[in-house]
Amino acid sequence: MLALFVPRFCYSVRTASVARCLAGHHRPYSNSADNDLVVIGSGPGGYVAAIKAAQLGMKTVCVEKEDTLGGTCLNVGCIPSKALLNNSHFYHLATGKDFHNRGIEFDNVKLNLTKMMEQKSGAVKALTSGIGHLFKKNKVHHIQGHGTITGPNEVTVTKKDGSQETVTAKNILIATGSEVTDFAGIEINEKDIVSSTGALSLEKVPEKMIVIGAGVIGVELGSVWQRLGAEVTLVEFLGHVGGLGIDMEVAKSFQRILQKQGLKFKLDTKVTGASRDGSDIKVAIEAVKGGKQEEISCDTLLVCIGRRPYTERLGLETVGVPTDNRGRVEVNSRFQTVVPSIYAIGDCIQGPMLAHKAEDEGIICVEGMCGGAVHIDYNCVPSVIYTHPEVAWVGKSEEQLKEEGIEYKVGKFPLAANSRAKTVGDSDGFVKVLGDKQTDRLLGCHFIGSVAGELINEMVLAMEYGASCEDVARTCHAHPTVAEALREANLAAYFGQPINF
Ligand SMILES: Cc1cc2nc3c(=O)[nH]c(=O)nc-3n(C[C@H](O)[C@H](O)[C@H](O)COP(=O)(O)OP(=O)(O)OC[C@H]3O[C@@H](n4cnc5c(N)ncnc54)[C@H](O)[C@@H]3O)c2cc1C
Repeated sequence: MLALFVPRFCYSVRTASVARCLAGHHRPYSNSADNDLVVIGSGPGGYVAAIKAAQLGMKTVCVEKEDTLGGTCLNVGCIPSKALLNNSHFYHLATGKDFHNRGIEFDNVKLNLTKMMEQKSGAVKALTSGIGHLFKKNKVHHIQGHGTITGPNEVTVTKKDGSQETVTAKNILIATGSEVTDFAGIEINEKDIVSSTGALSLEKVPEKMIVIGAGVIGVELGSVWQRLGAEVTLVEFLGHVGGLGIDMEVAKSFQRILQKQGLKFKLDTKVTGASRDGSDIKVAIEAVKGGKQEEISCDTLLVCIGRRPYTERLGLETVGVPTDNRGRVEVNSRFQTVVPSIYAIGDCIQGPMLAHKAEDEGIICVEGMCGGAVHIDYNCVPSVIYTHPEVAWVGKSEEQLKEEGIEYKVGKFPLAANSRAKTVGDSDGFVKVLGDKQTDRLLGCHFIGSVAGELINEMVLAMEYGASCEDVARTCHAHPTVAEALREANLAAYFGQPINF
């Protein structure tokens, strides 16, 4: 019998109440009074919320302090990093044995870093300017300048030329995102001591790069430069790679694969400082549990220890909106601050700092302003590391299930036994699914594989609809596809054994 669980959404209820907003569809912007919404910030949280609000009939303004729209994600985050990851992977395939082993032979492979950077910048430009077109199409009014909240219904925008414009609205949505966290005592110059932003635009391939932090961004950018020829060492405070939330079995396997590719790791190790000796950067490290100091050196140091909420000159104190001990704007379950007309979403509030989390929050937050239901299941927000192979997961890890005392079963399937992965010669990795021991409900999926980032969405959908392992195991999957490995892992979880392994 297939398990039947109640899905997360109840669309009929939500759509009916949200439709009420549509009364004044596409009303034009007015700076003197009565806009429905001012969104501060145009990252994936802010721009998506602004478009959705306008589509619901709200007269919407979006204020962005930078010259281009799109925030961290489009300008210095998801998009440029994925362009470089993709192209550095091609370079790595061409210079290593991979193409040769496939019978594709050529000489004189050369790296043209300028061109590679141009491709990246072209993708960023196309996508950021695309938001401008979407704003026009949906009649979102864009104001360039720094927004400061000067009242519960008022935002004052300071423009580049120093002039100010005051915009009033029924509601204000803070979507100001995050910024790079500094490492005390290490000054970033974005030339040879760089944050993720500088690491996306280096003018030459470093000889030796040290990355402080082997979390998601650290391993992604470390991989880029290692593939292009740098000797890369990642120093990580934790005892594993891939950051928080990753399943430990996956983390171990992932580390082994990255080491095979040439990345070096110093885990359980902390950086205590960095100094300059000519063009050499000396980085002092020691074991977390204490002990002898060691010095390692590089010509490029990448500081990748995380991001923190950005709320500079936002005016939160003026209106009495508090932040928590990590600087995050405090909101209730409807993303509303203590001031009922002021809301916040995305990286500047609690929860995973991910573009798709910000987008989802943006959409349901403005639906909520129109009377819609507001619910997001953070357990169904996927995480992806875009290395090769990719690592992706959704739901609980084994460690979390143990900690919560939930009885679970495991179903695993190696990509070495998947016909498509084998055929295309890309079979590093495995799928692991975790199901509830009593009910068979799917609790989590952890996946290493070249297309894990795409395929994890199947598991997200299954979990959103409360699927059981049997549900996925009995769902027809096209052959030959890597997605069949997901089915096999669920077969293993439900029946105790897969077919093809
Ligand atoms: C290198 C890197 C790679 C990443 N890769 C991924 C990935 O692959 N997938 C993923 O999901 N996430 C990724 N992220 C994280 C992702 O970029 C963020 O989670 C996401 O951008 C958050 O969206 P947001 O809308 O909350 O904020 P942001 O994207 O930070 O946007 C906030 C915007 O608000 C503007 N702003 C701030 N204050 C004001 C003000 N007072 N007035 C006017 N404008 C203001 C800022 O200029 C900015 O444009 C990556 C991040 C980095 C750094």
